[in-house]
Amino acid sequence: MSRILGIDLGTTNSLIAQVVDGVPRVIRDPQTGERLLPSVVAFTDDGKVLVGQAARDAERNGSGIVISSVKRLMGIGMEHVNEDDRKQFPLAPADSGPVRFTIGNQALTPPQISAYVLRELRRRAEQALGEPCNDVVITVPAYFNDSQRQATRDAGRLAGLQVLRLVNEPTAASLAYGLDRRDHGTVAVFDFGGGTFDVSILRLQDGIFEVLATNGNTRLGGDDFDRAVAGWLLKKAADECGRPQIMTDHRVFTQARREAENAKIRLTTEPVTVATLVLPGVDTPYEALLTREEFETIIRATAEQTIVHCREALKDAQIRPEEIDSVVLVGGSTRIPLVRTLVREFFGVEPLADIDPDEVVALGAAVQADILAGGTKDMLLLDVVPLSLGIETMGGVMTRLIHRNTKIPCTVVEEFTTPADNVTSIDIHVLQGEREFARDNRSLARFKLPVEPLPAGMARVLVMFLIDANGILSVTAIDEKTKNEHTVEVKPSYGLTDEQVEEMLIDSFDNAERDVTERLLAEAVVAAESILLHTDKALKEGADLLQPEERDEIVSAETALRKALESTDRQTILDATAALDAATKPLADRLLDRAVNRLLKSRTVDEVLASDEAV
Ligand code: ADP
Ligand code: MG
Repeated sequence: MSRILGIDLGTTNSLIAQVVDGVPRVIRDPQTGERLLPSVVAFTDDGKVLVGQAARDAERNGSGIVISSVKRLMGIGMEHVNEDDRKQFPLAPADSGPVRFTIGNQALTPPQISAYVLRELRRRAEQALGEPCNDVVITVPAYFNDSQRQATRDAGRLAGLQVLRLVNEPTAASLAYGLDRRDHGTVAVFDFGGGTFDVSILRLQDGIFEVLATNGNTRLGGDDFDRAVAGWLLKKAADECGRPQIMTDHRVFTQARREAENAKIRLTTEPVTVATLVLPGVDTPYEALLTREEFETIIRATAEQTIVHCREALKDAQIRPEEIDSVVLVGGSTRIPLVRTLVREFFGVEPLADIDPDEVVALGAAVQADILAGGTKDMLLLDVVPLSLGIETMGGVMTRLIHRNTKIPCTVVEEFTTPADNVTSIDIHVLQGEREFARDNRSLARFKLPVEPLPAGMARVLVMFLIDANGILSVTAIDEKTKNEHTVEVKPSYGLTDEQVEEMLIDSFDNAERDVTERLLAEAVVAAESILLHTDKALKEGADLLQPEERDEIVSAETALRKALESTDRQTILDATAALDAATKPLADRLLDRAVNRLLKSRTVDEVLASDEAV
């Protein structure tokens, strides 16, 4: 089996790693010796593209167009970008459609930008190993939806890589630890990076990793601390030097952010530090003293947000904090002492940090790559679906096939039928979300399946949902009769941010009661309409089988049901439906007898018994 490498494509930094003799190691850049590649791409004024540290330097000098943290925009649409994004990124002027950046006269997408980072990692590996490297495993946040995962795959493809597997970052981190110790128990993976936070609850047992729940925020990270400290520094400098105009000077702000990050990093190991700012037209640099205590006051509210997400994740996993045996720390921001304290206090255990928090995800990706290459065989990975998936059925309701937090990979098959006579195609509308009605959920895909025209309720259509190990959904519908089949791989053009996932969940809780009432009503209406349709048909077919008073009874039950339908009162509709059902019972029996007799006449008894169509 050829070599497969593991890649952590981070918001802030990316790494590439491989397993050598059973031990995962990060591959360093042979030229600089660096392990981390800043996920930054710069387009210089003279038409060059710089990646990594060189791009970060360009950002520092304010030259060219520089794009960092592009992972935030992977697989999302223009309608999902916010004010901050518009300030931070050179976005093309559009309100909808996929995100595009304006770079000179080109329009580039987030996967195209990420591909530059991946290509640079590949170059490093190929130089270091002296052979071509095409096959990789790439990690993605556990909450990435189909479209964000697809965008990551696209980035790999654009970089000339074959992406054999996307693996969730917390799963990778637990793999990196699991290899060393084979822990049993329940684990929380706390990943606090530069731009994002996420927490996952995993169960480890006999070398099997199972993700019970995930939660997080794509806009919560070390960058927020940098911005907060930069704001504090600018304000202090502006006040003390009497220069309010620096508050809006972009160059000074960029400098302040860089200074803030450095000060933040120093405060991880030192109790106090000095932040410096060179102000335009002032000879001596401005200096401000910042203690760790003051720093903690500035960042506390933001840092505490992580604990809110931990609480949510535990709630979804139905686990109490005391039940967590170990906490794995991932991401540069978990080095901050306050963050560790908050984690320790909440979970009541000393968090694990033996493996470098910058490397642990990449190392785990390498372990996963090694498993695929056949090096490690005794591990299985399980992850979960973040939002329920289903299809729209009669009355506009959403019928769930795969429930939220179901482990993946998974398959579900359900049988559906046609609501009316002689339809020639049925509409399959694939939905994602927790609300009862299709209209309140997110539409992922829609397609038509041609079916053989049959009486209502006779067609059998199988709908299969399959989520592969990468979390990508494919939906297949099959008409049992004709074996007509149609499959879509769901690659929604725009994804959801995790805030939207959260909003959708909150929304579903808020509306649960009303939704259920409405859904029950909708189902009653569907049942009533269906029986009305069948009755009309039966009255025509069986006109000769009825006494006039029987016919009158049916017609008046029909009228009563039509009237009940106007009332929108569920119970009234249910009662009237039951009454019509009872009134048509003799007719239905006689129609069935006649059908069976006709069949018996045209075929031998054996034929009839052998055929399941007879009944
Ligand atoms: P991502 O997963 O988003 O790529 P990383 O895990 O590489 O991010 O974390 C980067 C973040 O960690 C940055 O905000 C950086 O400032 C912060 N960081 C790195 N080292 C330290 C440190 N020693 N103390 C505090 N923060 C740190
Ligand atoms: Mg990370």
